[in-house]
Amino acid sequence: MITRTKYNPKEIEGKWRTSWEAAGLYHAPDNSPKPKFYNLVMLPYPSGDLHMGHWYNFAPADAYGRFMRMNGFNVMQPIGFDAFGLPAENAAISHGVQARTWTLQNIDAMRQQLRVLGAQWDWEREIISCLPEYYKWSQWLFLQFYKRGLAYRTKAPANWCPGCNTTLANEQVLPDGTCERCGSVVIRKEIDQWLLRITNYAEELLNFSHIEWPDKTVTMQHNWIGRSEGAEIRFWAEIAGHREEIPVFTTRPDTIYGATFFVLAPEHPWVEKITTPDHKAEVDAYVDQARHMSEIERMSTEKEKTGVFTGGYVTNPVSGEQVPVWIADYVLMGYGSGAIMGVPAHDERDFEFARKFGIPIREVIRAADEAPSDPATWTEARESLGVMVNSGPFDGTPASEAIAKMISYIEEQGIGKHMVTYRLRDWLISRQRYWGAPIPIVYCEQHGMVPVPEEQLPVLLPDNVQFKPGGESPLRYEADFVNTTCPICGGHATREADTMDTFICSSWYFLRYADPHNDEQAWSEEAMQRWLPVDQYIGGAEHAVMHLLYARFFVKALRDMGYLHFDEPFTRLFHQGIVLGPDGQKMSKSRGNVVAPDNFVRKYGTDTVRCYMMFMGPFDAGGTFKADNLEGVWRFMNRFWGVVTDSWVEGKVNTQETAESKAIERLRNKTIKRVTEDLRNFRFNTALAALMECNNVLVKQQNEPVARTAAYRKALETMLQLLAPMAPHITEELWHQTGHTGSIHLTDWPSYDEALTHDETFTLVMQVNGKVRERVEVPATISESEARMLALNNPRVASFIGEHTVQKVIYIPGKLVNIVVRNS
Ligand SMILES: [Zn+2]
Ligand SMILES: [Zn+2]
Repeated sequence: MITRTKYNPKEIEGKWRTSWEAAGLYHAPDNSPKPKFYNLVMLPYPSGDLHMGHWYNFAPADAYGRFMRMNGFNVMQPIGFDAFGLPAENAAISHGVQARTWTLQNIDAMRQQLRVLGAQWDWEREIISCLPEYYKWSQWLFLQFYKRGLAYRTKAPANWCPGCNTTLANEQVLPDGTCERCGSVVIRKEIDQWLLRITNYAEELLNFSHIEWPDKTVTMQHNWIGRSEGAEIRFWAEIAGHREEIPVFTTRPDTIYGATFFVLAPEHPWVEKITTPDHKAEVDAYVDQARHMSEIERMSTEKEKTGVFTGGYVTNPVSGEQVPVWIADYVLMGYGSGAIMGVPAHDERDFEFARKFGIPIREVIRAADEAPSDPATWTEARESLGVMVNSGPFDGTPASEAIAKMISYIEEQGIGKHMVTYRLRDWLISRQRYWGAPIPIVYCEQHGMVPVPEEQLPVLLPDNVQFKPGGESPLRYEADFVNTTCPICGGHATREADTMDTFICSSWYFLRYADPHNDEQAWSEEAMQRWLPVDQYIGGAEHAVMHLLYARFFVKALRDMGYLHFDEPFTRLFHQGIVLGPDGQKMSKSRGNVVAPDNFVRKYGTDTVRCYMMFMGPFDAGGTFKADNLEGVWRFMNRFWGVVTDSWVEGKVNTQETAESKAIERLRNKTIKRVTEDLRNFRFNTALAALMECNNVLVKQQNEPVARTAAYRKALETMLQLLAPMAPHITEELWHQTGHTGSIHLTDWPSYDEALTHDETFTLVMQVNGKVRERVEVPATISESEARMLALNNPRVASFIGEHTVQKVIYIPGKLVNIVVRNS
């Protein structure tokens, strides 16, 4: 027996969180006999503020984890912090606070906010990537990659600010190409950098057959990896009296007779060799201009094509023709060989370029349905396959054979070969920054580059450093850090002062969660066997390529090293949508439309905010945040609270079955089915809608006799369980108020009887003159007139009535219709 109370989330939410934590309710034990379920959200950055985007990601993800737990799984749902990165370093530079202190303070603040969210976080597994107990293993992983030739050092281009005398991260370069700190024009400069050989895995990374990921993300990774198949063909030129060859890659070797020009990337080493003295000044100016542009700008299809003629020529090895050599910024050094053959008739970019500079356009491929025409009249390139024309001995080769035939020809002639290329490049992981994991390498005068022995890890990042005003990494000036001894000869050596990209930390954190306190190993094999791979990963679609690709690469590389037994890190992936500001625009400080969840939590409590996030719309679609709509969810909570407490106040329960109580039982079964199927498929909004509909029916009958039946109470108890994943506090409170012991979150998910999920029916027997002629399933609620009409219009019954006159129709409710006809 309970007394009527008012729903007051302030009184119950904090209380239950403390109780759950004290009981260790959400710790996933390593020794449970239940099947495991690894439910993971993306590692948050400790900005110090849990915003709406976090809530929209974490609250539904938590509801899903709770649902799986009630379905019998040992659910692991860890949380931690991606704690290295630029913002802490910027705070250190501008406010003089230590990056470590700033970060740990933010983590403290975020832990509190994460607790308020009421999720079943397994805090015992928390990881913080900037602490030595974590980054020791990031460094160990680097060494494993290094040992196997998967980590290497080479010259690579970086954003360089001549004003600050330092490299810049992409986000420090403003859209107009200037430094965010000093306004200087940022240039690209080649410096020593560390890279990981992700390209070794390009082909395998294209295989998604064992994972369930959103199609869009799979497509983005495909495009990012950018596999193309074609041929490498070597053009050549006489340079200083020698024949020198220059390879180009093309997916369309069948168009080689249409190459009317040749383009080098401005950075190509041949530019200097091939430029004639009369073109040098113009070429130099163009090269300098291209250095100041980002790759994205250069590759933009919007941008008008620019370029200059070098004065030089190369020889087309198939046709023997002399082809003029240009330089143009739409050709990039990093892709293919940094050189292309220009075939304007059959490539759109080449077409635009040729049009602009008056270069001849020669048709060499003609589609079957096309009549010969003058390319000078074309408005665009013709990129489809077709019969080869104007191609010497190859004329008339059909589309189906053209590419293969040209490839075998160039291979026979020794002037090229079949080739597969990828757009994907090796992963540049070194940062000329302080706040990251130091790269465990030292340089000895005698022994050169030497890896730090594993037993000397971690290479500690100093806490106290002197920042340079321009933002240059202070590590290289920290004598205590930089000066060390060579592990081989014991002589003087200097440490690598670059730190690792934070994407390294987030490429393996999901492994560490399974074994977070292991100080002997990064993880034990046992922990991997028990918990990995991640069963469900939930996070933003903005990570479709970098993080999600790097993590896949890590797992595959570590598998090949013998450290892991699986091929893919995340079996199922779900991307939540984006919560827009009240004006329907993306939330941003500059627009002034940022809505913080905290105020609403204070007003309505966590459960209402959680449920509102899930009710807003389909989880993958996001929606517009409307404060008014929170009221609707708040009213539902209050009505539900009221009906549950009232029902138990009434006390006495009638166990007799009535038509009304049977209807309630059907409603209960139907609701279980709907909510179960919806939650399984991340349809939180429709699950909540089903619960609201059920609640409306129960509220409507609150003052009727049925409200005192066992069926009615059972329906309320079931509602509590079905709502528990989404609103964990109110349901826990009411579960206890209604006399249950133990946490509702440890109960088994309600099951349903399929038969009871359909509307009640009976078999209506249709007779003609007392003989059964038809049987039809009809709703139990059918009226007499409906039953009569149904029988009279039934085709089989009608055939027995024929031309006879109907004398009368007898109806026995719930059983039969008998049509009496006069025999003529
Ligand atoms: Zn600068
Ligand atoms: Zn040495």
